[in-house]
Amino acid sequence: MNPSTYIPESFIDDVKTYIPKHLSIDDFIKACQRPLRRSVRVNTLKMSVADFEHYCNENDWKIAPVPWCNTGFWLTRPDDEEQNLPIGNTELHLSGCIYVQEASSMLPPQALSNVISECEYVLDMAAAPGSKTTQLAAMMNGCGVLVANEFSSSRVKVLAANIKRMGVSNCALSHFNGNIFGNYMFECFDSILLDAPCSGEGTVRKDADALKNWSIESNIEIADVQKQLIISAFYALKPGGTLVYSTCTLTPLENQEVCQYLLDQFAGHVEIEPLNSLFPNAEHATTEQGFLHVWPQIYDSEGFFIARFKKLSSVTNCEQQVKKGAFPFTPTANKLQSDFNAYIKKQFGIKAIKGQLMTRDKELWLFPEGMAQIENKIKYARLGIQLGTTHKNGVRLEHEFATALGKLATANIYAMNQQQAQDYFQGKDIRLAKPTTNLGEVVLTLCGAPVGLGKWQKNKIKNSLPRDLVSDSQLITWV
Ligand code: SAM
Repeated sequence: MNPSTYIPESFIDDVKTYIPKHLSIDDFIKACQRPLRRSVRVNTLKMSVADFEHYCNENDWKIAPVPWCNTGFWLTRPDDEEQNLPIGNTELHLSGCIYVQEASSMLPPQALSNVISECEYVLDMAAAPGSKTTQLAAMMNGCGVLVANEFSSSRVKVLAANIKRMGVSNCALSHFNGNIFGNYMFECFDSILLDAPCSGEGTVRKDADALKNWSIESNIEIADVQKQLIISAFYALKPGGTLVYSTCTLTPLENQEVCQYLLDQFAGHVEIEPLNSLFPNAEHATTEQGFLHVWPQIYDSEGFFIARFKKLSSVTNCEQQVKKGAFPFTPTANKLQSDFNAYIKKQFGIKAIKGQLMTRDKELWLFPEGMAQIENKIKYARLGIQLGTTHKNGVRLEHEFATALGKLATANIYAMNQQQAQDYFQGKDIRLAKPTTNLGEVVLTLCGAPVGLGKWQKNKIKNSLPRDLVSDSQLITWV
């Protein structure tokens, strides 16, 4: 019970007007005051669920599966570990093998699970900090293009950092008001997730002050933004495509009414795809229309709302726009491509990488396959991954080469122990127990996942971790 949770009377009065008959307001208030169970999602780009379960077993981490997401688990760590080591400083987190994500927040990407593996183009329209982007990326498993957009400048940086930590290679990042997509990227995407900015009524278990500024007026104001975004998303969706709309709020003003607005605007072109069989017992949270309205007391989670729509046919958009300005990348020259491919084959045993090598000045980038069709539709903040920088003797590899592609390496890989990993993330060189005769660059791994690059030197591996990622806090162990 969290006695400091702030729940204004006016909010409760409003909830009473729409809480479903089978739920009680008292249970709702009690659930809002209970602390939230911690859940994590296994990043299958870096670690299998079986390896995660094995790790938990070995390390006395107690887990219980989240029923709607086969990579999601509620997690309890031993008390002494919990008190002495933040989860963000554990080896599984630092290596990008897990993402701390509230269980109900795993539902919106899950609602796309029936179509995502066949999608070539996916848009996450309001993406930061990236829990759902990285979940979608894991579901896409490196195939297709995932455009992740975020309007807020400070949050776009966090999004970029999470995408890098999780080893996502097929993502293009953009930084716009989501309302531009319908005009600039008309009918470009097979699937779209609009996890909309909202009043956050469902988050009060995590943030006791979430309802401090609650008012119906602000619900109405946010709903106006949501309506613009959902219309833009629908224009950007290909005919036959799937749109998921979600919020972490409860009021119908920001949920059912926004969905109804979409249905009214595009009558005949859109239908609801019901979510009542998304997972066992989903019907406990499904509305008559087939939306998931997850109240915190139903599954002991945060509150959430999820709706899924199918676009039945093309629509007309007279406001389409074409981006001006040149595209700053060019396909990498054949000679540089073959030199680079020969180097990664010789040094790391990597025979082939998926995607298109592109060049901007001295930078070498890897774009996801299929990027060419949409690369000049909008200006991206970041496109694919930067592999390296060219210089007179070849290419100097970037950290991200290792985090995103290191899993392909079969040679010059070094598995760090906990002490070495702690040194690595604190920016120190890695001492070797025995001198080595190996030369050149090496992919460093932790818990089996690639985390960065180093350079073999006789008795140590020289640390190549970018300075901005160096941490001086307590990492990995605490005893
Ligand atoms: N999907 C994210 C995740 O799972 O980590 C959470 C997204 S949060 C609910 C909504 C995001 O929308 C915020 O990061 C906010 O900055 C962003 N946002 C606000 N207004 C926006 C707009 N007009 N267009 C796009 N994004 C917007």
